[in-house]
Amino acid sequence: MKIFAAEFIKSCVAPEQFPADGTPEIAFVGRSNVGKSSVINSLLNRRDLAKTSRTPGKTRAVNLFLVSTSDPVLSQFYLVDLPGYGFAKVSKAERARWAPLIESYLTERPSLLGVVLLVESRVVTEQDRQTLIWLRAIGHRPLVVATKADKLKPSERVRLLRQAHRDLGLADGEMLIPYSVVTGDGRDRLWGALRDLAKT
Ligand code: GDP
Repeated sequence: MKIFAAEFIKSCVAPEQFPADGTPEIAFVGRSNVGKSSVINSLLNRRDLAKTSRTPGKTRAVNLFLVSTSDPVLSQFYLVDLPGYGFAKVSKAERARWAPLIESYLTERPSLLGVVLLVESRVVTEQDRQTLIWLRAIGHRPLVVATKADKLKPSERVRLLRQAHRDLGLADGEMLIPYSVVTGDGRDRLWGALRDLAKT
């Protein structure tokens, strides 16, 4: 599969700025520093794409990238980068300002095909668990990606991934996709899962 184009379109800070063209959307969520920008860049084969939207003010926005690929089921879609949650440096007041934006995005988008939840392979937090529960409660079946998989020692990899799977409360048949932007591990699998989302 070839990626023909991947470009930053805009940052939305209010629901009325979300696009209205009906192009399918895939949203990426995860706590700050989980590796979300790195995974987005790796997935799209672009070095700085996700970071280019990281100018002050835009980190709390819903950032949209338009992606075109050679795959007929994913020929064009918006990759939607949602603000990272649980960032210690963000005040409660500030968080209260952008949480409704994420909420309204995730609950009110008819064009939202699916949600990718990123967690860190070695550190699944209570907040990750709560986010997964919440996403399910509002009707999503998120694809869960375990980032920084290269940091797992080969001897502990299976055990720690199983542990993360369990800590998240995933069911037996539900995937936890290990991903490393360093080795490229997980990239094909994640694209395959996104394609499956688009087919259903
Ligand atoms: P974001 O805040 O979720 O967008 O996280 P970033 O993409 O900025 O990544 C946070 C830190 O984790 C950076 O220092 C990255 O270099 C590092 N990182 C991200 N993905 C990986 C990975 O697959 N392996 C390793 N070893 N480090 C990673």
